[in-house]
Amino acid sequence: MNQNKYLNLACEGVRGLKPYIPGKPIAELEREYGVTNIIKLASNENPLGASKKAISAMQEAMQEIHLYPDGNGFELKKTIAGKFGFEIDQITLGNGSNDILELIARVFLTTTDEALFSQYSFAVYPLATQAVGASLNIVPALPEDAQMPLGHDLKAMRAAISDRTKVIFVANPNNPTGTWLNASELEQFIASVPENIIVVIDEAYFEYVHEDDYPDCSKLVAKYPNLIVTRTFSKAHGLAGVRVGYSFSSAEIADLLNRIRQPFNVNSMAQAAAVASLDDDKHIAESVKVNGAGLRQITKFCDAKGLGYIPSVGNFICIKVGTYSEKLGAADIDEKLLQNGIIVRPVANYNMPEYLRITVGTEAENSRLLQALEKIMEL
Ligand SMILES: *Cc1c(COP(=O)(O)O)cnc(C)c1O
Repeated sequence: MNQNKYLNLACEGVRGLKPYIPGKPIAELEREYGVTNIIKLASNENPLGASKKAISAMQEAMQEIHLYPDGNGFELKKTIAGKFGFEIDQITLGNGSNDILELIARVFLTTTDEALFSQYSFAVYPLATQAVGASLNIVPALPEDAQMPLGHDLKAMRAAISDRTKVIFVANPNNPTGTWLNASELEQFIASVPENIIVVIDEAYFEYVHEDDYPDCSKLVAKYPNLIVTRTFSKAHGLAGVRVGYSFSSAEIADLLNRIRQPFNVNSMAQAAAVASLDDDKHIAESVKVNGAGLRQITKFCDAKGLGYIPSVGNFICIKVGTYSEKLGAADIDEKLLQNGIIVRPVANYNMPEYLRITVGTEAENSRLLQALEKIMEL
């Protein structure tokens, strides 16, 4: 692709971009390696699947699939607003929350602005920022021996704000590290940011976190009008395939996001599924329970085998496999896992070449992964 003869025609910000690398799809591994009985622990999907209520709602919605969806997403916005205590005009819907991150970049960032975020942050922040020609202000993360290894250094982020900073992205918990910020440190940070800078708190894994001092930043939107909180149905709700996410903000910010939103960005099946899923707290509770047990299963194994990992409150965990033996790096281990029909996520593209990010699966899936690691790494 170095030879792309249209490169000079592309907008400047786009020229330096590399496409987002998703987790390897199961069908691709089947095609390339000829293996079957594959498990995918690579994209932080819910191993229990979607709520049965959501699946029925989609089957029903399918009957009217020849009609355009409600471009305003009224039912879904009403359900979200009612459940979380907002007015309907404070909710913005996206084709996944990635869509909303992109709307934010397109509304607020131009070529003379910059977006600020931590090293080891979600890959979509630089993508959305560079696509509109804005600059990146990437702040060094906390060191590996910190209490939150490779997590956000809020003091350094505050100090790095410049005249050009227009948007700040903070994921809590963060992907790929799984680290998180507590209520007092995060609110202190938000309060310290000038009001003419948009602060985005990305709560994609919100439902999974039950730490006592983990903040629900939707509660801060009324107090900080420059705050946008994004959430998704892709993770705990198990609806990654239909693509639906949302944000809480002031009505003024929502108005701006909606000016450039594609009129039918969230399809009718996704809207129906999301409404039904918000009515199934039991499914979320069960998913959270299975995830907690799976995280303990994985960390217990790592502790017993002397494998390093980054403590996580999400539905994934980064294990430091690359420094265990001189013979096998993380990429070699990843390759051998693929040969065994197990897809995990290498994070070398995040500059974490010694780690593999593992999505927490069911107990049986986790066991299969851990047994494979034991064998491959001779633990
Ligand atoms: C998975 C994820 C998202 C959500 O992506 P969708 O577009 O909603 O599927 C957003 N932010 C982070 C940090 C994530 O890990």
